[in-house]
This record gives sequence, structure tokens and C-alpha cells, in this order.
Amino acid sequence: MAWDFSTEPEFQRQLDWVEEFCRTEVEPLDLVFPGAAYSRAPKARALADPLKQQVKERGLWALFLDRDLGGPGFGQLKLALLNEILGRYRSAPVVFGTAAPDTGNMEMLAAYGTEEQKQRWLYPLMNQEIFSAYSMTEPAGGSDPSLFKTHATRDGDEWVITGEKWFTSAGARADIIFVMCTNGMFVVPRDSPGVEIAEYPALHNHIRYNDVRVPLDHLLGPEDGAKMLAQRRLGGGRIHHAMRTVAQVKLAFDIMCERALSRQSHGKVIAEHQMVQEAIADSYAEINMLRLLVLWTAWTIDNSSTKQARTQIAACKYTCARVLREVSYRALHILGSLGTTDLTPLQAMWAAAPTMAIADGVDEVHKVTVARNVLKGYQPHPGLWPTEYIPARREEARKKYADLIAADPDLAAWADAARNRAARA
Ligand SMILES: Cc1cc2nc3c(=O)[nH]c(=O)nc-3n(C[C@H](O)[C@H](O)[C@H](O)COP(=O)(O)OP(=O)(O)OC[C@H]3O[C@@H](n4cnc5c(N)ncnc54)[C@H](O)[C@@H]3O)c2cc1C
Repeated sequence: MAWDFSTEPEFQRQLDWVEEFCRTEVEPLDLVFPGAAYSRAPKARALADPLKQQVKERGLWALFLDRDLGGPGFGQLKLALLNEILGRYRSAPVVFGTAAPDTGNMEMLAAYGTEEQKQRWLYPLMNQEIFSAYSMTEPAGGSDPSLFKTHATRDGDEWVITGEKWFTSAGARADIIFVMCTNGMFVVPRDSPGVEIAEYPALHNHIRYNDVRVPLDHLLGPEDGAKMLAQRRLGGGRIHHAMRTVAQVKLAFDIMCERALSRQSHGKVIAEHQMVQEAIADSYAEINMLRLLVLWTAWTIDNSSTKQARTQIAACKYTCARVLREVSYRALHILGSLGTTDLTPLQAMWAAAPTMAIADGVDEVHKVTVARNVLKGYQPHPGLWPTEYIPARREEARKKYADLIAADPDLAAWADAARNRAARA
């Protein structure tokens, strides 16, 4: 049976290990030493590195990469199932070597880097010896790449990069920045002369590239290939966000259901109030619709390519933002005053919903992609009426029975009655 919704027992054992490991190792680290998994400070590394080592020994490091690039080569479907666990814990992606923005940058390097570029940047990124950032959005416009102006000019054996970028996540702490120019994707060491990082925003940096010089071999992929590389990078990133969002909304759902069974109001447990039941029932259906959309998309990527799955990935992108917004709001609401505090994960989850609708491209742009691609499978109907115009279809169908209708007055009366009844409606 090809439509199988179960998980292989062997892989389920891996998932069980991941769940236990995250609950007993990753969550305590997050709660007691927040940020330790991302830090380069020796004391933080002493706490986080042994966890990363356990993940490596288990063969679960750099989950998103194929086997020949040093990852386990699970493919996207298994990655989706793993991300449904990792997405619950703040630093699980970095403990498993799958944290953005490095993942997308590594995918670009893996797909388009020369062997020398891979040696120089991909393998150190995989081992978290270095960290990276991605500079695409510009202050003058993010949704429309045709507005981007940052460019590279060739000068002897160097490229000279000039421009201004906005919202480069983790740019200030990155060792290398992938800079999207109008004429190619370039790898820029952050400490290059001319890289000027503005004071704010603090996390998603505003960076000026003031005639920054890099050697010729810092061009990644073909000259003028930046859009192609960006598509490759962002396609993977979007589906990974959606996978982790499934984890987040399931967490919100668990919190909501537990609370609904635990509080009383107006003489009964609040889970018995019908509007609370509606919130639970709607959330249950929406979470499972999102989950199946994400798993189907992951399966499609495994069986074709990220490019082939572009419409599905775009649909995941805006659907995960909507489901996150709706479910986290309902959960927060059902927790009442407690939900409005930062004493549960719900307030931060709900506050993250607008971000999800903007990061990696605003929802509107993805909806346009879906509508345009879907419409390619359709044609306008000839003449005035739609193809499904019932009178026309009935007349066409009557031709199939023409001999019977001509030969049998009872059948003719029946068929005429159906035609006349429709005409009266
Ligand atoms: C948390 C986070 C992390 C990010 N990290 C990075 C990063 O690491 N590197 C990077 O380069 N960028 C990053 N970005 C930037 C992100 O890619 C842009 O914010 C996004 O592409 C939108 O661009 P913008 O912010 O300029 O919004 P705009 O393009 O100004 O859009 C604003 C609004 O205009 C409307 N709009 C725009 N276009 C259309 C359209 N075609 N149809 C209908 N309505 C439209 C929508 O309502 C949209 O929300 C990040 C953003 C966030 C929120």
C-alpha cells in the first residue's frame, strides 16, 4: 500500500531517542544556561559540546545534508519527522547542527561550491568551527529582488562589493557573510575592511559594504547566478521553518488541552464549555492539515526536487504562519491571564507569528506564486459557460443514451423530466 502514514520501526527508535535526549539534555540546558549552545565562550562550549558529540555519535548531525556531504542523508521526509521534535526546543537545531542561517548557506555551498570552497567554508560550517550569515534584503525593499542594488565590480584579481543590506540575521557574529549582489553571490569574511555593521537592529543587522574587496574565488556559483542560488537556499529554509512550526503548534496544543482539563469555571471544567471545545477541535484539524501538507511537500522533494516542489513549499510557508497565529492565540487565550505572561512559551510563540509571515518572503508573494503556478494547469472555457455548466453537460450526456431515449417512452419521459426540472430551478 503506497499511502502509508506510519513510521519505520527502526527510524521510530531514532525519533524516540531524539525526544528523550531533547527533554533530558537540551531543555535543561536551555532553561538554566540560555544561549549556551550558540556561544563560543569556553564555559558554554564545555556545556554544549558534549551534547553535540552525542548527536554525532548517534549519526544525527547535520541532518539536512546528504551522506556524501557528511550528513546522514535522511531526506526531507525523515527530516520533517525529526524537526517535529527539534522545533519544540530553542537550541535543539544548533545542538543537531541544523540551525539557520547556516543550513541554507551550507546547502548553497554544497550545491554550487568548488571543492576548494567546500574545504574552506562548508566543512568548517558543518563542524560549527565558523558561523555564517546571509545578506540579501536591502533597506529600500525586501520583497522585490529587482530593487536590490548591491553589486560587485571586477578589479584585477579582486571583486569590489558596494551596497547596503538590511536584516542580515546574526551578521555581527558571523565569520563569513553570503552577500547577494546583482551580479552574483559572494562570500565575504565579516572582518574584511569596509564591512560596516550599524548599531541597530541588534540581531538582524544593517550592514554597509563600502568597496569591500574579496579575491575572485569568493564568487559562489556562476557570475549572474545569485537569483538561482537564492532560490535554492530559500526553498530549503522555508520548508525547514514549516517543519519546526508543526512542533511549535503541537506544543501550544498540548499546553491548551492540559489547561482546559485542569481549570474550573461556572460549575464545570473549562474543557466542557463548547467554545473551548471549538478552539480545541479547530486547532486539532488545522495542525493536522498543516502537518500533512508539510509531510507531503517533504515527500515530493525527496521524490523530485526542491524546484519541482516550489508551489507546495510556498503553500507551506503562508499556511504555517496562519496556523501558528491561530493556534498560539487560542492556546494563549485559554490560559487566560497566565497566557499573557512570559511564564509559558505561548506569549513568545504568538508574538513570533507575524515574523513567520514576513521572514523568508512575505505571505502575499508566496500566495501569488501558488496562484500563478496552479493556474498554469487550467485553460479559460470557450464560449460563455463554464465547463461544468450542467445543462450543456446534460445535453452531451443525452447523446450517450440517444438510442434508448428514442426507443423507450418511459426513459424519454424520465430524461425530459430531469431536463425540465433543471430548467425551472
Ligand atoms: C526574523 C527575520 C529574519 C530575517 N533574516 C534575514 C536574513 O538573514 N537575511 C536577509 O537578507 N533578510 C532577512 N530577513 C528579511 C526578509 O527577507 C524580508 O523582511 C522580507 O523579504 C520582506 O521584505 P521587507 O521587510 O522589506 O518588506 P516589504 O518588501 O517592504 O513588504 C512589506 C509589506 O508590503 C506588502 N507587499 C510587499 N510585496 C507585496 C506583493 N508583491 N504583493 C502584495 N503585498 C506586498 C506586504 O504586506 C508586506 O508585508 C528577515 C526577516 C525577518 C522578519
